[in-house]
Amino acid sequence: MGTSKQPRRYLSAPAELFVNRESNYGWRVPECPWCGGEHTHGAHSLDEDPRLALGHRVSHCATISEHPKPGDETPLAKAAEALNLDFDGYILVDDDPRQTAELMESLEVHEDDVFVGVSLKGAA
Ligand SMILES: [Zn+2]
Repeated sequence: MGTSKQPRRYLSAPAELFVNRESNYGWRVPECPWCGGEHTHGAHSLDEDPRLALGHRVSHCATISEHPKPGDETPLAKAAEALNLDFDGYILVDDDPRQTAELMESLEVHEDDVFVGVSLKGAA
C-alpha cells in the first residue's frame, strides 16, 4: 500500500430509491449539494441490492457552470476548499432506509423468481 494516502472527502448527497422506466433501481438526489438541482443515478436490476450502488458518484452537474470548481470564489466553493473536500462528485447516502426496505419488499412480492436463502442446519 502507499505511504500516507489522504482519504478523499466528499459532500454527502441524501438520495431516495425509485424504479426507473427500464425497470431498474435508481437513486434520486432531490437536491444536489453542489448545484441544488435534482440528479438521478442508475443502480441495479430489481433482483440485486440497490444499496450496493450507494457511495461515490460523479454528480451530473460536475461539468456545468453551476458546479463549483476549486479556486471559485463562491461561498460553497470556498467552504468546500476550507473543508478539504473533493469537487468531482458526492457520496450517495440512503436518505430513508426504512422506505428503501419497504420498496424492495413490495417489489419482491411481484417477482416471479424469489430467491430464498435456506440453511441445511437442523433440517435432519
Ligand atoms: Zn448537481
